Amino acid sequence: MSDYQETLYDGYGQRFRMDTLLHEVRTEHQHLVIFENARMGRVMALDGVIQTTEADEFIYHEMLTHVPLLAHGAARRVLIIGGGDGGMLREVCKHPGVEQITMVEIDGTVVDLCKTYLPKHSSGAFDDPRLNLVIDDGMRFVATTDQRFDVIISDSTDPIGPGEVLFSENFYQACRRCLADGGILVTQNGTPFMQLAEVQTTASRMHGLFADWHFYQAAVPTYIGGAMTFAWGSTDIGHRRLALDTLRQSFAKSGIATRYYNPEIHQGAFALPQYVLQAIGKPGND
Ligand code: SAM
Repeated sequence: MSDYQETLYDGYGQRFRMDTLLHEVRTEHQHLVIFENARMGRVMALDGVIQTTEADEFIYHEMLTHVPLLAHGAARRVLIIGGGDGGMLREVCKHPGVEQITMVEIDGTVVDLCKTYLPKHSSGAFDDPRLNLVIDDGMRFVATTDQRFDVIISDSTDPIGPGEVLFSENFYQACRRCLADGGILVTQNGTPFMQLAEVQTTASRMHGLFADWHFYQAAVPTYIGGAMTFAWGSTDIGHRRLALDTLRQSFAKSGIATRYYNPEIHQGAFALPQYVLQAIGKPGND
């Protein structure tokens, strides 16, 4: 049995024993490998970076979905950029009020192979009649679509390879353009202890673009280096300041069963540590 050594960071990283290699291919866009690991279940990596594991994917997908959707409270149209493994789509589909889900994933091979080798991630969500799956560059889509969305979730790889453009100023501006009144953009934004510059860059691009911008966090074990941050940009300053009781009512009304998300976690996730606040130039978590 060989090992899978993540190569995201020079001189520091995580290693998985590959108990079974399930699939490996160079797609049109990236190198993909899916393997079985006794502790973490099935694991997918793209271009040397761990993307998702069966064991801990619920944390990431629940937090990047239920925080914006329950804060918005009336989202009908949702856009997912990336998300080829289908885990985000599975969580969005759990919201009965959502009427239309557009998912723009650049690499159709990721979708096909995750349907085959990571079926628990999507759990049939790709067959949801609300889904419009578009195989295209998310940047091109948000720059050209005339559709508007209540929530946009950028579930991208790190800013390397095809994912790099999803951290650009143009991307955030285009997403802002595609948001309906009261809309919210959330994005995967790396682990600040290891990728502080990524948070700083995003902060500088969100500032002035959104009525309210901030970050929220969750510790996802296989996104190594500490808690992961999610960027938050909203056209409505009230969405991030909902009373706990309001969140509790929304969560109860949704009827969604979770393994990580709850209203208290939702509220607490927006409390950033000092070094992150200083890095993004904010005096506090207000
Ligand atoms: N949870 C992972 C993380 O936090 O790094 C992301 C998982 S998901 C597999 C990332 C997806 O983004 C991949 O399927 C990749 O093909 C897709 N992607 C990368 N660049 C893209 C782009 N420019 N447009 C659309 N999808 C893109």
